[in-house]
Amino acid sequence: MLVEHRQNVPKVLDGGFSGQLSRHVSTKIDNDPLWTARFLQTNAAAVYDTHMDFLRAGADIIETNTYQASVPGMMKYLNVSERESLDLFDKSVRLARGAVDDHVREKRIPVESRPMVAGSCGPYGAYLHDASEYTGFYGKSMSRRELIDWHRPRVKALLDAGVDLLAFETIPCVEEAEAFLELLKEYPHARAWLSFSCRDNQSISDGGVFQSTAVRCYRALPSQIVAVGVNCIDPKHVTPLLKGINVEGASSGQDFIPLVVYPNRGGSLSASGEWIAVQDDHSLNLPISEWLNLGVRYIGGCCKIFAEDIELIRAEVNRHITPEILGK
Ligand SMILES: [Zn+2]
Repeated sequence: MLVEHRQNVPKVLDGGFSGQLSRHVSTKIDNDPLWTARFLQTNAAAVYDTHMDFLRAGADIIETNTYQASVPGMMKYLNVSERESLDLFDKSVRLARGAVDDHVREKRIPVESRPMVAGSCGPYGAYLHDASEYTGFYGKSMSRRELIDWHRPRVKALLDAGVDLLAFETIPCVEEAEAFLELLKEYPHARAWLSFSCRDNQSISDGGVFQSTAVRCYRALPSQIVAVGVNCIDPKHVTPLLKGINVEGASSGQDFIPLVVYPNRGGSLSASGEWIAVQDDHSLNLPISEWLNLGVRYIGGCCKIFAEDIELIRAEVNRHITPEILGK
């Protein structure tokens, strides 16, 4: 695991996998119960190329193409056995690491700057394929044990395949965040970030209060949680959601909580899986300095954030990486 070093240096994540993948394939991607994960079986070269796009754009961390993949989901929708389904998780990690290896060789990147691979774990709601990752309604009807048992095979498969950390993301309800924390404790050497799906500038998708929940989740397991935050959110909601968690400008200390943010382009996913944009404006203009000042240490993009956007985020983050931050 490479997570420990240079803790205070902001890391750039990748962008939305589906949008970028659409530049490499002619077949339909959205509105599939497995979403982009289907391409692990049908077009591995396009998955690799998508990872490469984000690495060349300057991502420090890329995510495996497994957001909407699960063992039961792959068995059902790809007509494969449990073993074959687990092998596809292994393949997702090999494709991401293969892209990192080639990129490191191509650009002669020193070992301390080698990009990491995060195992993407979407919420149970993504498996339901009815946009309930944006409502979290199932948090009240499922037990914590059921949620843990549902997530375990994928988490274990990704860790066994050697991911550097896990991305628990688009979490719409506190019950699922708590399930992820419990599950993570079963793997004491594993690290993860916990990223919530929020419905406005203060609430988690199920209506719970974001800030107090995020702080409580981080404090419950600071040895394993590398950051808490939000993803797939309209950029305009990010500052109000994160402001106040840390003293502004703070960068370390016992009370400091590293934050993760990877917004979408502003819009939402419909129940049928189509992206509904709320703006035609293709320039992003994210207030990156402001977010770094609030304690953001992991920053990238979600739906409709492309490699060229990550390149801009990379350039902006680089302006903030001073010799002091690098400890030189
Ligand atoms: Zn998204």
